[in-house]
Amino acid sequence: MALTGLDIFKLTPKKNCKDCGFPTCLAFSMKVATGAVEIGKCPHMSSEAIEKLSEATAPLMKTLTVGKGETEYKLGGETVMFRHEKTFVNRNRFAVLLSDCMDDAEIDTKIQHMKDVDYVRIGEDMKVEFAALKYAGNKDKFIALVKKVKDSGLKVAYILICEDVAVAKEALELVKAENPIVYGANKDNYKEMVELVKADNLALGVKADNLEALYGLVEEIQKLGYKNLILDPASTSIKEAFENTVQIRRMNIQGQDRTFGYPSILFVDTLAKGDKFMEIALSTLFTMKYGSIIVLSDIDYARALPLYGIRQNIFTDPQKPMRVEPGLYGVNNPDENSPLICTVDFALTYFIVSGEVERSKMPVWMAIPDAGGYSVLTSWAAGKFTASSIAKFIKESGVEEKVKSRKLILPGKVAVLKGDLEENLPGWEIIVGTTEAMFIPKFLKELAGK
Ligand code: SF4
Repeated sequence: MALTGLDIFKLTPKKNCKDCGFPTCLAFSMKVATGAVEIGKCPHMSSEAIEKLSEATAPLMKTLTVGKGETEYKLGGETVMFRHEKTFVNRNRFAVLLSDCMDDAEIDTKIQHMKDVDYVRIGEDMKVEFAALKYAGNKDKFIALVKKVKDSGLKVAYILICEDVAVAKEALELVKAENPIVYGANKDNYKEMVELVKADNLALGVKADNLEALYGLVEEIQKLGYKNLILDPASTSIKEAFENTVQIRRMNIQGQDRTFGYPSILFVDTLAKGDKFMEIALSTLFTMKYGSIIVLSDIDYARALPLYGIRQNIFTDPQKPMRVEPGLYGVNNPDENSPLICTVDFALTYFIVSGEVERSKMPVWMAIPDAGGYSVLTSWAAGKFTASSIAKFIKESGVEEKVKSRKLILPGKVAVLKGDLEENLPGWEIIVGTTEAMFIPKFLKELAGK
């Protein structure tokens, strides 16, 4: 049963010394009860109390850190079933499967595809984060595959998919320093697999024939003292995969059962049985519920755009608006004679406006001042999108060096700013633009006399 703040308070030394960063022991206890702070932050807690409390106050789902350096990712650590309850914490990651049963041409193509998909959207890197390297029976080819991917220049973390402990050991030597995931602990090999990974505390993928067997296997592995696990929600069909994945999360979060308190890995490449459209549909499904790593057969822009788009929506805090970085952006290769269109840094507004500007095929500069991440009218009403803030941005961000046309287009909904802007920006022609983005192409063409 979960401990309350008062349960924890009874065990604190009650010094109120603030060494934990909280003003009182009670405040600290309340925070520990929510799972936001670890009990060990109090240096005066007795070892018996820490032992008693640390298990009970541990987060329901473990957070695993895998990969290294610029390919280091956190998995798991979720606290709620639904995004709207609070927020999801660690976004799922995408992997592409490569195997020793593929020929060199196929492997090269997939590696190139993985390299190709690499773009930034609203400040987030959109790329394949993992190479899932699968042993399909040819040891020499598998080892060669691991070397090939390592030498390919791909910036990815690794998942070694291999249930043969001896082969996994050999492959692991090549990528051990990269903190990979080793997938393939089953009922027959789990002791050897734990032995293989525990010295380096690597994440261990666990699989079983069904959910009950998976639960039992996790218990056995935990008895060995190993808790750095990733669960494969045992399944032979899409229906079963979905049921099991949701059931694992329910037992963990709602049932407060830490045996299933680990991130998951979903092999949608296998579930989709070669249907690439089904593969994307399943990947979006498991992005929402509740895959931590989703393994695809391949990637390209057509596959990536919907996947990364939905991931970005799901794994952002619903309380905080998504923002683009304030700055000057060029659309359709503008030069110094192109007009300047101003809008806010709320991502949805930016993408709607920039999309319409792109559609117009007219070269335009876009000025995006810091408007607090709100829409045009909201930021204007909040005093964050004003004549003085726009003028300050234009004067201080170097816009005047790049834009000699001195034509500034305002959103039609804040036409009221025109007079003040003319005062704040002498030499600029302030033009009131459209009230709706869809009229922008026609407006820009007319402005250019076309
Ligand atoms: Fe209380 Fe420990 Fe925090 Fe000091 S460090 S205020 S004793 S909980």
